[in-house]
Amino acid sequence: MQNRVWLITGCSSGFGRELALAAVAAGDRVMATARRPETLTGLAEAGQGRITTTALDVTDPDSIAAAVEATLAAYGRIDVLVNNAGSLVLGAVEEFTMSELREQLDVVFFGAAEVTKAVVPLMRTQGSGTIVQMSSIGGRKTYPAFGAYHAAKWALEGFSETLATELAPLGVRVLIVEPGAFRTEFNNNKYVTRELPAYAETAGATRRFTQELTAAEPNDPVKGVAAILAALDSERPPLRLLLGGDAVDGLREHHAALLAEVDEWEHLSRTTAI
Ligand code: NDP
Repeated sequence: MQNRVWLITGCSSGFGRELALAAVAAGDRVMATARRPETLTGLAEAGQGRITTTALDVTDPDSIAAAVEATLAAYGRIDVLVNNAGSLVLGAVEEFTMSELREQLDVVFFGAAEVTKAVVPLMRTQGSGTIVQMSSIGGRKTYPAFGAYHAAKWALEGFSETLATELAPLGVRVLIVEPGAFRTEFNNNKYVTRELPAYAETAGATRRFTQELTAAEPNDPVKGVAAILAALDSERPPLRLLLGGDAVDGLREHHAALLAEVDEWEHLSRTTAI
């Protein structure tokens, strides 16, 4: 489809910004949003008149409704919604507080869910559209210190896979994107919880690793968004798209371990029939 209209959350940096630019390069038009819209001035200038900007904080329902209305006022439709906004709360389960856990879910899960629910009725009425959910390899497998983030992304995965089955007969598609480590502001923007000595070798090791990985992430977000556009343009887009060799290797290894455990315990699992 040519000349699509995109609504993208979290465009101040990283994937959101690159997606907006790639959409424009593909001939599409974009409503680029951020919770601090003043961060979008340069992006709008780079948009050759095809990027409009507005405020959207995914934790603020009024700003979600206003941004959807602003998109319809500017362009009359929404063809691609990208739930891209995200943040990272880094700490072991015992280290993070319930309020830190809730904040993580508010942005990554409830925020994406609320924006999705604001746009689904429009796409259903149009009988077309694609909802792109920026999940993560961390939406499929886990690492110490990422418990809050995994809880949010795994919730987003279940929500989105279900949504895909409900919307498919109505002409609306869902694409779940699962990046590995990409060189964006993600690592710089992370929030680190209190640290307990008991977790130095688990959560602490992850904390040290993410610090070393900052600005040394193996994947390029420009190439990542090119892959997302290629998937969207393909004849039969996937439900899930892994991004990065690290994500592919990680998932393959994880699934092999999952299946091996199923095999090992199958004899016991099958003892329950009435
Ligand atoms: P960035 O930190 O560069 O971008 C994150 C964006 O989300 C920023 O624009 C940020 O805005 C925005 N954001 C945070 N909180 C809110 C909020 N309440 N409302 C609206 N926007 C908000 O990281 P990425 O580009 O890498 O992240 C984009 C997505 O990709 C995220 O969902 C992330 O989980 C996912 N991802 C990233 C990976 C990576 O390695 N980079 C790996 C796997 C998944 P602000 O500037 O105001 O903070």
